[in-house]
Amino acid sequence: MSVSGHCLCGAVTISTTADPAFSANCHCTDCRHSTGAAYATLLFFKEDDVTITGERATFSHPSDRGTTLTKSFCPKCGSPIATQNDARPGMIGIRAGQVDQPEAIKPGRNVFLDSKLPSTPIDESLAGSPRMPG
Ligand SMILES: [Zn+2]
Ligand SMILES: [Zn+2]
Repeated sequence: MSVSGHCLCGAVTISTTADPAFSANCHCTDCRHSTGAAYATLLFFKEDDVTITGERATFSHPSDRGTTLTKSFCPKCGSPIATQNDARPGMIGIRAGQVDQPEAIKPGRNVFLDSKLPSTPIDESLAGSPRMPG
């Protein structure tokens, strides 16, 4: 299903024309810092299927593999919006918390389980990997 979404203040809006290609819960420490949450749930789309309106600020940093991750957020309310990896051109990860359709948020796997918080429960029926698979 296509989804819509917005940041906390509403200045940034998101709409998609297609289903997410895949979705994952990421338990890495970078996701914790950038979201302020125990882990990050991301819905990955083809960039061409996603329209984001409103001004966004960005922050880029290296991944554990030396690729460049660029995260965007609303400069007004600070809500994280999206993340992109230069090793995966054409793909964009949308932060699940901004999505208006709860039923569209169906993470298929957990990644970076080796850095998850001890208090975070894990759905063992999902695929899991200690770091980023592939
Ligand atoms: Zn905002
Ligand atoms: Zn992460």
